[in-house]
Amino acid sequence: MRVTVDKDMCIGAGQCVVTAPDVFDQDDDGFVELLNATPGEGDAEAVRDAENICPARVITVEE
Ligand code: SF4
Repeated sequence: MRVTVDKDMCIGAGQCVVTAPDVFDQDDDGFVELLNATPGEGDAEAVRDAENICPARVITVEE
C-alpha cells in the first residue's frame, strides 16, 4: 500500500489522525503530515477509512 496526501488542499479537519494515528499526524497549523507512506497490512483498514472519511478528499491510497 502506498499513501499520498495533497497537503496544499488539506483543510486541517484531523479525521485522518484520529482514524489512523500511526500513519497521519498534524503539523502546528493543523495540516496533515504523512508519517508513513508505505504502511503495512496492520494499518491498511484504518488508512482506507481515512481516505474515505477525509472531507477534503486529499488522501490517495494505491494498493
Ligand atoms: S482528514 Fe483530510 S482534511 Fe483532515 S487533516 Fe486529514 S488530510 Fe487534512
